[in-house]
Amino acid sequence: MKKIQMVDLKGQYSEIKDIVNPSIQEVIENTAFINGPKVHEFQKNLENYLGVKHVIPCANGTDALQIAMMGLGLKPGDEVITADFTFAATVEVIALLQLTPVLVDVNADDFNINIEAIKNAITPKTKAIVPVHLFGQCAHMEAIMELAKAHNLFVIEDNAQAIGANYTYADGTKVKAGTIGHVGATSFFPSKNLGCYGDGGAIFTNDDALAHTIRGIVNHGMYERYHHDVVGVNSRLDSIQAAVLDAKLPLLDQYNNRRIEAANKYDAAFKDVENIVTPYRYGDLDNHVFHQYTLQVKGVDRDALVKHLNANDIPCGVYYPIPLHRQKAYVDERYHEADFEVTNQLVKEVISLPMHTELDDEQIHFITTTIISYLNE
Ligand SMILES: *Cc1c(COP(=O)(O)O)cnc(C)c1O
Repeated sequence: MKKIQMVDLKGQYSEIKDIVNPSIQEVIENTAFINGPKVHEFQKNLENYLGVKHVIPCANGTDALQIAMMGLGLKPGDEVITADFTFAATVEVIALLQLTPVLVDVNADDFNINIEAIKNAITPKTKAIVPVHLFGQCAHMEAIMELAKAHNLFVIEDNAQAIGANYTYADGTKVKAGTIGHVGATSFFPSKNLGCYGDGGAIFTNDDALAHTIRGIVNHGMYERYHHDVVGVNSRLDSIQAAVLDAKLPLLDQYNNRRIEAANKYDAAFKDVENIVTPYRYGDLDNHVFHQYTLQVKGVDRDALVKHLNANDIPCGVYYPIPLHRQKAYVDERYHEADFEVTNQLVKEVISLPMHTELDDEQIHFITTTIISYLNE
């Protein structure tokens, strides 16, 4: 059996070497390292793939979120509602911009931001909602957009974990994750579903004026050379990273399908296991692209299971072990433990299994049988 990896970047690279290497080589030969033609080419190709009017490439996913908030003109003191159960980047940029983060609980089934909790958190100071499409499946965007409209709020989708996922509206219409809100942000960190070979990110929007504002912000607030109209940042997608991404983009659907297939096999193996809750999926199969395959284990010492798997050379992850409202940087007397019942439970019960495009049947069999026999001991 091949050694099991949490993410198998080497295995994936060896399959696509012949496409990626010449694409990188081309950038080196033409020396257009910054804002070269590859960046523009990738931008256009991603716009077409997503069916969105504007893609603005930038340096990483955290920048993408920050720049999206700057572009919307959010001001210090504005309240921004986001999920308590997510990676810290989301709340970090809210705090960095001196906006007020308002963390709320998530759903027990899909782990995404809870609509009732958002409703309860809205005040006259609320300006935006940041749903995070956790582990590869969209938050309930239809309900979120309705709420946003009723309260005149911006919606910024954190799409770092769900690129390529579809969102299916109640009427059956499908759109790509990240293109539903006023603005979407994504990351091309190597282990993400569309990963480059370093850092990268992008912002999506269908709003022409916002796209224009954001294009200036990523480039030092310049709309005309050496005229700085607003305070901006320096956040660029490297041409070499764009070359990698442009070579990989045509494979994204295939890659996501491989993740979905692996998830189906995990699901089948755990179907009748009492202590395990497999990931909840709603709508069509292409709505969840499994950035992570995350189980909930009930009545089991999760940390002992992690140890047992590691002892058997099965890597696994706990995303996330501590809710954001209890992280030192973000604790606040506004928060009450009773309001975070679901997150507080999830941090004790979640375990993410190896998930990537190169998992084979033998590995999945070894992982699932190791877990099941441990639970039966
Ligand atoms: C990865 C990730 C980010 C940050 O992306 P970087 O490119 O690492 O800055 C933001 N939000 C979520 C939910 C992520 O998973």
